[in-house]
Amino acid sequence: MIDILAYPLDRLVRTLERDYGKGLYHAEALYREVFKNGNRNVLSAPEFLGSPKLSTALAGQVVVDPGRIADTFREENLTKFITRLSDGLKVESVIIPMTRHNTLCVSSQVGCRMGCAFCETARLGFKRNLTVSEITGQLYNARHVLKKKIKNIVFMGMGEPFDNFDAVMTAVRIMNAQKGFDIALRHITLSTAGLVPGIEMLAEMNMPGIRLAVSVNGPDDRIRSGLMPVNNRWPMAALKEALLKYPLPKRGVFLFEYILIKGVNDSRDHARRLAGFIHPLPVRLNLIPYNPVDAFGHASPCDKEMHEFADLLTEKGVFVIKRWSRGRSVSAGCGQLGKHLAGNDPV
Ligand code: SF4
Repeated sequence: MIDILAYPLDRLVRTLERDYGKGLYHAEALYREVFKNGNRNVLSAPEFLGSPKLSTALAGQVVVDPGRIADTFREENLTKFITRLSDGLKVESVIIPMTRHNTLCVSSQVGCRMGCAFCETARLGFKRNLTVSEITGQLYNARHVLKKKIKNIVFMGMGEPFDNFDAVMTAVRIMNAQKGFDIALRHITLSTAGLVPGIEMLAEMNMPGIRLAVSVNGPDDRIRSGLMPVNNRWPMAALKEALLKYPLPKRGVFLFEYILIKGVNDSRDHARRLAGFIHPLPVRLNLIPYNPVDAFGHASPCDKEMHEFADLLTEKGVFVIKRWSRGRSVSAGCGQLGKHLAGNDPV
């Protein structure tokens, strides 16, 4: 069985050579039909119509299954869609409109085992890792079923991408392939809760330009561990050490995310300590107001509090971008994915 959405091009070439005596020409035709044209009936391509023997041999062997879109939710231009997987489980993805293109926020797992206190996905528990084709299938569906121009990918949906490292990295290679989806590495962001071994493994891969985001959310170990249990295993000093060693490209920066939660991590002293943690790392910090989730019970900061916190960080030399949450009404905001998936059990 050749599941095209799970095959990097070099592996597809090797498989066609080994099993069918064909190679790059037909592999590129399959890539073009699936990734560029969104054609699931791949054997209708001219390269296969001209080779009836090959078409007969491949019939029933080639699979293109991105999962069925079970539901979509819209808020202004933002779209959240739910994909039903082959075992009946569901995952959410979000298409976020930017000025000239769209960003797709993809999921890497069904649920998540990181247990962040402010996150709806954590409440689902961990069901399973997504396969490569279930990850690339989200991009296929966004582009070819929902007909959205997607130029950026952020792994900020359900799950911790470094907890499903191999599948995520294979999906990244497929998304990046020029003959396929053709998303530049600098337009792909992997966002981690701070899994130090994942950061170290990424550092060893030859993926220049891929962007690394870290969900920080706390100014010190006490607060961060309370919000993100992963910090008990890899405290902030270990995280910082891994980032200091990470081979950023020239003028590259880490993206830090800091969800500002009223009364939890939003004081002047917290801002000062956060700035101390960041120094001397090259960082662009996204400051995001907390999106209330049912079981956590804290409030969002008001605009004034957001501005004050951001100004304090800026005074300390931190480059801050204030992100005003979008998608709250359809539970597509940061930390809200999974709210529409109650009873998410396999069939
Ligand atoms: S914030 Fe991210 S890492 Fe944390 S529980 Fe939610 S999905 Fe997992």
